[in-house]
Amino acid sequence: TAKLAGRACYRIYSATEGAQGHYQQRLSEALMASLKVAPEEFSVVYQPQFDLATNAMVGMEALLRWRHPGLGQISPADFVPVAEQRGQIHELTEQLIRRILADLKNCGIGHGKGMHLAINISARQIADGRLESLLEPFFSSIRATGWIPEIELTETHLMNLSRACLAKLKGFGDRGIKVAIDDFGTGYSSLAYLHALPVNVLKIDRQFVQRLGAEDGDSRIVSAILAIAEALNLEVVAEGIETETQRARLRDLDCHRGQGYLMARPLPLAELALGSTSRRI
Ligand code: C2E
Ligand code: MG
Ligand code: MG
Ligand code: MG
Repeated sequence: TAKLAGRACYRIYSATEGAQGHYQQRLSEALMASLKVAPEEFSVVYQPQFDLATNAMVGMEALLRWRHPGLGQISPADFVPVAEQRGQIHELTEQLIRRILADLKNCGIGHGKGMHLAINISARQIADGRLESLLEPFFSSIRATGWIPEIELTETHLMNLSRACLAKLKGFGDRGIKVAIDDFGTGYSSLAYLHALPVNVLKIDRQFVQRLGAEDGDSRIVSAILAIAEALNLEVVAEGIETETQRARLRDLDCHRGQGYLMARPLPLAELALGSTSRRI
């Protein structure tokens, strides 16, 4: 059975473990082949982020897309975990960086003017020495043109990082790269651990933003996250804002940055930069 997740992508849930393993095997093989001989199947879409107080665009998150000729459009929620498990995540990140650089060049928006450019990284890549050699030249080049580079790591994986990995993360921070905890609130970070982590940004998971939906919606978790962020001097980004009520309540709670379908879906860079709504970029 396939369940709709978002508008463009299907997530596939198999009936049995065996069938799921089989599907993952197929995905993994297709991924390997596509990475090797059909890199054009990969593209990147960009979801703008806005300052919730002023509505000015202040950044964007790059999200990977893969359209396979036989399997169709596959969600990163399906292929990223497979790539992680089968040792293909570095190649995927290489593809991501290559596409972003090409997109920035093609669209003539080399200048970030103080805007964030966030990419998602698997925490298990931090230990991989190849990551720094891949990201370092990329980040220096975009930073030189005014972008603020940001890496997003999911909370669950962050908790398992070794001391050596935390030192590497700190190294990123020292070189002007912001580190964000993605899907914050869904993992198990203790406050003590959070305080010791070299991070700058908390991204509130969509499920908590959704609860702000109604006038009397539950804002307690979002308020708590904002209080933690303030105590630890961290920025906060809310993800998955879909309604005007959610946006208004986040703004009233002084959440800094936000992104979501209400303001913009993830789009090809050309549409984002030259789109009819003339977003400021
Ligand atoms: P994420 O980093 O938490 O990204 C947010 C996801 O929520 C994206 O799904 C985005 O399209 C979707 N989204 C944005 N606004 C809304 C909204 O208002 N409502 C709803 N319902 N959804 C919204 P996407 O692009 O399918 O990505 C899923 C996950 O896959 C990402 O979650 C991220 O963990 C991972 N991913 C995506 N691209 C990459 C990548 O280049 N590298 C790695 N390692 N992971 C990636
Ligand atoms: Mg993310
Ligand atoms: Mg997220
Ligand atoms: Mg998420």
